[in-house]
Amino acid sequence: MKIGFNEATTLKNSTLESDLYLCNEVGFDYIEIRIDKIKEYLESHKMEELVNFFNTNRLKPFAFNALEGINFRSREQHEELLKELNYLCNLGTTIGCSTIVVVPSFDVGYRTVTEIKDNTVSVLEELASITQKYGMRLALEFVGYPNCCINTLSQAYDIVASLDRPDVGIVLDCFHLHAMNSRVEDIYSLDPEKLFIVHLDDAEELPPGILRDEHRVWPGDGVARLGEIFKALKTIGFDGIVSVEIFRPEYWQWEPSETVRVAKEKAEAVLKRYWGDEG
Ligand code: ZN
Repeated sequence: MKIGFNEATTLKNSTLESDLYLCNEVGFDYIEIRIDKIKEYLESHKMEELVNFFNTNRLKPFAFNALEGINFRSREQHEELLKELNYLCNLGTTIGCSTIVVVPSFDVGYRTVTEIKDNTVSVLEELASITQKYGMRLALEFVGYPNCCINTLSQAYDIVASLDRPDVGIVLDCFHLHAMNSRVEDIYSLDPEKLFIVHLDDAEELPPGILRDEHRVWPGDGVARLGEIFKALKTIGFDGIVSVEIFRPEYWQWEPSETVRVAKEKAEAVLKRYWGDEG
């Protein structure tokens, strides 16, 4: 199992430059790059530095996080989305990062599940017609908040399965799965080829619909059913990456080296326990 580090975990206490160094030091295989962090990095660094880093180190880039609010945009906002997408495609092909995580919109009003599906399918089809020219992939991430228009695993997978493109898949975030009571059983009906990334995290013991990103805790420290999730992933033959993604303000108070080190330890402990992987 390949382990990744999602830069949200050190969102407020580190930079891309420091995340790269620290993740490489502790032995992460992949890094999921925050778009805000790479933009900040490129203000004072040359692109070649980044290319050179990935060429000469174990750590590789896996995905950009994230293009947010992709559906139900105004025409103007949609044009901005396409601009940003093209920017990421150019960046991705230069540094070897071939996946873009895309996140649905929030507070879209009383849209039916069918309306949401139709809109999202057409947006993803258009975005994928651009990304495929660059050999890039799109990974749709449902968010387990009541006001996110795609907030369960089954709803996200229904959209991606109906597109049925090899370059459009989903992100399964264990926190989001738990946060809106998605059914762990639904994992058994996933095509593993359409599951591009698993975000590894855990949740405080708050009711569904109340949990927010700040209530994420280290994998293994909360009440999400990680054992059942990994049993299902193993059964379907999931072979992708598992990436630690926490948004906990408390961990942003730590020394970044400590945050990165603990992220690796906690992820390995969970994988050892539920996957039989020594890491
Ligand atoms: Zn996530």
